[in-house]
Amino acid sequence: MNMSQNTQNRPVRVRFAPSPTGPLHIGGVRTALYNYLFARRNGGEMILRIEDTDSQRFVPGAEDYINEALAWLGIGIDEGVRQGGPYGPYKQSERRDIYREHVKMLLDAGRAYIAFDTPEELEAKRAEIPNFQYDASTRMQMRNSLTLTPEEVKKLIDSGEKYVVRFRIEPGRDVQVNDLIRGTVTIKSDILDDKVLYKSADDLPTYHLANIVDDHLMKISHVIRGEEWLPSAPLHVLLYEAFGWADTRPEFVHLPLLLKPDGKGKLSKRDGDRLGFPVFPLEWHDPKTGAISAGYREDGYLPEAVVNFLALLGWNPGDDTEVMSMQELIEKFSLDHCSKSGAKFAYEKGKWFNHTYLQNLSDAELAAMFRPVLRRHGIDDSAYTDSFLSAVVGMVKSRINFVEDLWDQTRFFFVAPTEYNPKDIKKRWNVETPKIMKELTQILNALHDFSSAAAEPVVLGWITDNGLHMGNVMNAFRLAVVGECKGPHMFDITELLGKEETIRRINAAVEAIPAPEA
Ligand code: GLU
Repeated sequence: MNMSQNTQNRPVRVRFAPSPTGPLHIGGVRTALYNYLFARRNGGEMILRIEDTDSQRFVPGAEDYINEALAWLGIGIDEGVRQGGPYGPYKQSERRDIYREHVKMLLDAGRAYIAFDTPEELEAKRAEIPNFQYDASTRMQMRNSLTLTPEEVKKLIDSGEKYVVRFRIEPGRDVQVNDLIRGTVTIKSDILDDKVLYKSADDLPTYHLANIVDDHLMKISHVIRGEEWLPSAPLHVLLYEAFGWADTRPEFVHLPLLLKPDGKGKLSKRDGDRLGFPVFPLEWHDPKTGAISAGYREDGYLPEAVVNFLALLGWNPGDDTEVMSMQELIEKFSLDHCSKSGAKFAYEKGKWFNHTYLQNLSDAELAAMFRPVLRRHGIDDSAYTDSFLSAVVGMVKSRINFVEDLWDQTRFFFVAPTEYNPKDIKKRWNVETPKIMKELTQILNALHDFSSAAAEPVVLGWITDNGLHMGNVMNAFRLAVVGECKGPHMFDITELLGKEETIRRINAAVEAIPAPEA
């Protein structure tokens, strides 16, 4: 069976359903990406649903962050809060009526009941019964609509007593969860507790109820989400059944965990802090603490590189192709090639992807991206033409992983050296050097054509003809112009700097570098 294709005879509709409880984690981004790739591969729709029913954990700014991150990465949304669509609202806090109505359906059908137990009463029960679980074995000892009379229940509700609605799970059932990556898992309904579906205190459903009701009403065909949600799946299967929706239940696809780069266990923010890589797509400014967490965008990653990197964390195209555009990923994506086992978050590979994508940019594109970096380093970039900057970045781009790295590689083009690498001085600057450098300035000064191609043979010829040491002279020249014995081809550098500046730098070095003793 080729699972890249729709396995059901209905249109593919998938959703990414984050809770706005903080910045979207990079694992969440991968989930969104796989949903998007699957939708596009199958000509389906991608829905963004905001699951904000946990009012305690709501964080301002998180929803905007999600939208901005997905837009930056090019993960398109067909229906959502911003896009609208036929099945809205797409924010759960705006769907209270729908949930209330569905809670009532379960209550009327006897599949759910109202429970008044206070936190203190639950605590007392936990102390009394070891491993207490609110389920078929204990529910008849509790204060709920199964043990109270209808009149008592009504009285309590009318008096404003807080209550919850619990799902009535019957023991002795084998619950089957089919997962397109994992196959079929069977669990006993006995291990499940009577989950809370709704809380009168904030008139909101819990995640489980809202999630199921919305997946059904929004006609979701495939639920593609992280492995951490697998334990909820049996309960969800029973809920679909209780509503009478078992026949149209979406297929489950639980994606493998993202693991620590250097070992077992789930990738966490701490791993990023410890090893120095972001775990968020965009920088995040915590609204409460003001703390800033690094983001891929601000750290200089190209969105195409991040997408490519994440796509391969839990999926492969069936061969060893690594570099793929979004369009290629869409064409190749298939659930068949998603893995069951966790994917190590090899962040160095992410840098490699960024390096690779930077090489594919034109020099002019890179130059434009370099301008803000120059400004951050106090350089008035308006003094430099596009063609100058293009030439500069073209010389060094094979050495960079990030646009920011261009600064280290090229700063000497913008700031003349005033200090010279002491190790290089020791190695390359001897008693003869000042005199040779003075001669070199005369050779250079006499050149009419200062291009790399024209200057190189003249200077090299002068070195050979005079029996000078090639390595020492060229490195002293470089030390004077660059400040250290590193960098791109010497005559490419001098061509860009121009005759006057090159000679000025050599003279400055001769002045500044103390003449070594004979
Ligand atoms: N709101 C859940 C989350 O934050 C959604 C889980 C699911 O996709 O069902 O990830």
